[in-house]
Amino acid sequence: MKKLAAGNWKMNGSSAALAELSALIATHPAPACEMLLCPPATLIAQAVYHTRGTALLIGGQDCHAKASGAHTGDISAAMLKDAGAGHVILGHSERRADHSETNVLVKAKAEAALAAELTAIVCLGETEAQRDAGETLALCGSQLHGSIPAGANSANLVIAYEPVWAIGTGRTPTLEQIGEVHAFLRAELVKALGEDGHGVRILYGGSVKPSNAAEIFAVKDVDGALVGGASMKATDFGAIVAALSAA
Ligand code: PEP
Repeated sequence: MKKLAAGNWKMNGSSAALAELSALIATHPAPACEMLLCPPATLIAQAVYHTRGTALLIGGQDCHAKASGAHTGDISAAMLKDAGAGHVILGHSERRADHSETNVLVKAKAEAALAAELTAIVCLGETEAQRDAGETLALCGSQLHGSIPAGANSANLVIAYEPVWAIGTGRTPTLEQIGEVHAFLRAELVKALGEDGHGVRILYGGSVKPSNAAEIFAVKDVDGALVGGASMKATDFGAIVAALSAA
């Protein structure tokens, strides 16, 4: 299994920010892990052009569940594929909150992604209130089983465990808390997919930065990271890629 460092630019970045891609490729031309950036949809085609023939992969941040049709403002999985994306982030907590996305919808979107031959990165994770109430594992389990697409396997599905309270806050769970959730998710993936569940990459996301990446990557069943803020700067994301490559 090749580990994965994935960056999520969210609704940030313009064509000027593509210079960060060049800097990342120059400093990390052949990392031991996979390296993926998901810029806003407007930049995907340019980013794909910018990174052609390099180790830097480009993905989308969302797709519609339908293949095409009257859905103004939306983007289908096939359109992402056509633009050159190979991955798509789905069910990010910001989309679950801002767009009321449910597990059922995330699953449908993930099935659309698989049909378009994209790798689906399905996000899940608890709020602080759910953690305080002792509901973390039950919540993560129901999000996992509710969102896994039919036809999922270790080649086309990645799970990102992202505690909502750790996203963009500078706070992270303890290494023991991360390890507990990742071990739980691994066991649930094996229940859902059989032996192949051992090969599904489980990323940790939430305030990963150069200073904490190595210790997080040393936790069992952490197969990479989904990185928001620190993915916007090539120096920071490059340091995270280097830490994952060394793990
Ligand atoms: C994210 O948006 O998925 C994320 C993990 O953000 P940050 O790294 O900024 O906490």
